[in-house]
Amino acid sequence: MSDRYASFVQSGAGRALVKRLGLPDPPRLRRYAPGEPILPGPVLLGSASGGRLTEPVGRILAAAGLALRDPATAVPDPTTGRTPDSAALVYDATGITDSTGLRQLYDFFHPQARAVQPSGRVIVLGTPPAECAGTREATAQRALEGLTRSIGKEFGRGITAQLVHVTREADESTWTSLEATLRFLLSGRSAYVSGQVIRVGAGQATAPVDWERPLDGQVVLVTGAARGIGAALARVLARDGATVLALDVPAAGDELASVANEIGASAVQLDLTAADAPTRLAEYLAGRHGRVDVVVHNAGITRDKTLGRMDADRWNQVIDVNLSSQERINDLLLERELIPAGGRIVGVSSIAGIAGNRGQTNYATSKAGVIGLVDSLAPALRERRISVNAVAPGFIETRLTARIPLVVREAGRRMNSLAQGGLPVDVAETISWLAWPASGAISGNVVRVCGQSLLGA
Ligand code: NAD
Repeated sequence: MSDRYASFVQSGAGRALVKRLGLPDPPRLRRYAPGEPILPGPVLLGSASGGRLTEPVGRILAAAGLALRDPATAVPDPTTGRTPDSAALVYDATGITDSTGLRQLYDFFHPQARAVQPSGRVIVLGTPPAECAGTREATAQRALEGLTRSIGKEFGRGITAQLVHVTREADESTWTSLEATLRFLLSGRSAYVSGQVIRVGAGQATAPVDWERPLDGQVVLVTGAARGIGAALARVLARDGATVLALDVPAAGDELASVANEIGASAVQLDLTAADAPTRLAEYLAGRHGRVDVVVHNAGITRDKTLGRMDADRWNQVIDVNLSSQERINDLLLERELIPAGGRIVGVSSIAGIAGNRGQTNYATSKAGVIGLVDSLAPALRERRISVNAVAPGFIETRLTARIPLVVREAGRRMNSLAQGGLPVDVAETISWLAWPASGAISGNVVRVCGQSLLGA
């Protein structure tokens, strides 16, 4: 599971060799630890003329305790030519209403291109093109994606770049979810998320009493929690304050019990594909807590073979675990109103579901289905104020990926902007953010946790 090449490169001797030979240079990523500040340095907040978000975002960043750099000091020093480093650049591009206005992006980012700290952040705020007043504005706003995705590929040193679309119909929930999103994206929680477009709409969002425990009081079900991403997820959710129900198959009972004991979670042994699984789960939840605030469908399997060599069992099992069982469970929990208003459903897709993958027709079909489920269920549950989102992990260092042959594994690891695989905790942090009560105005999103992988880009 360990990435020996990255450890070597991050050592003194490795650094010199890698530079000389022009080899991939995976940086050490800044990851979140409780109690740490959101960012290790100041934020430079810039704005295109007429931006509608500069004022509320300035307020949010200041309230979050972030130091805002005075733009007047973020200019090149006349003697050294150096611009002082910022830990993050946040740019309100909502004022750009036609293509000629895009020049403002160049004017802001060009002098800052070499002045962002390692593991720094670039966030551009825009208006969803569908909400733009006319075609010129919609065109210019869509153009922002090209900028952020290229910055993600160009800046290096663990710096990530995202575009955040904020609805024009902003209400109190929008600001709360925008704060949650900025806290997530600026912090080390989003270490392996880059090149994403995230939409913040309206909805039901509640700010936590303590942002260090954003899931306080929430009952969260995690499937596939005995190991890998699910185990990391159970730990992160518990750390963030949730009451965790950790579910896995009876055969994984020992591993599941050890995860559950470690974090004070309840272990639920259940095969999700069993005919009575939805009823048993619904009865368990009703009896135990009377509700479940967040359901994370993380359990998943692969049964790889090229389509011509694949027997029907491999096809059936993968579709059933990764997609159909989740539909059956959602349907029953929703029918029995066990997911209350303010609830969350989070699916786990994969970049294979976006790009397709040789030898994984069954898996990619199921994971593209998870995206379809988000697309169709999110609007259907808007009235009930339940959000539906998914994450799509790329190459994550788990037992699953450790089994891939070395050459293919190395390619998977390096073919992304961060030149390394992600860790289970990176996926877990992203799911936790989507689950926070503060994130209620985020629904219908599929957020890739892939270090901006080239697959499906
Ligand atoms: P994993 O195999 O380590 O863990 C999956 C867990 O799900 C296991 O504990 C397993 O027992 C459980 N599970 C399987 N079938 C079940 C069933 N019928 N009922 C209950 N539990 C069941 O896998 P992982 O790497 O941690 O992956 C977690 C999720 O992330 C999966 O949905 C996977 O497809 C997805 N994913 C992983 C990667 C990666 O690189 N590891 C990449 C993209 C997507």
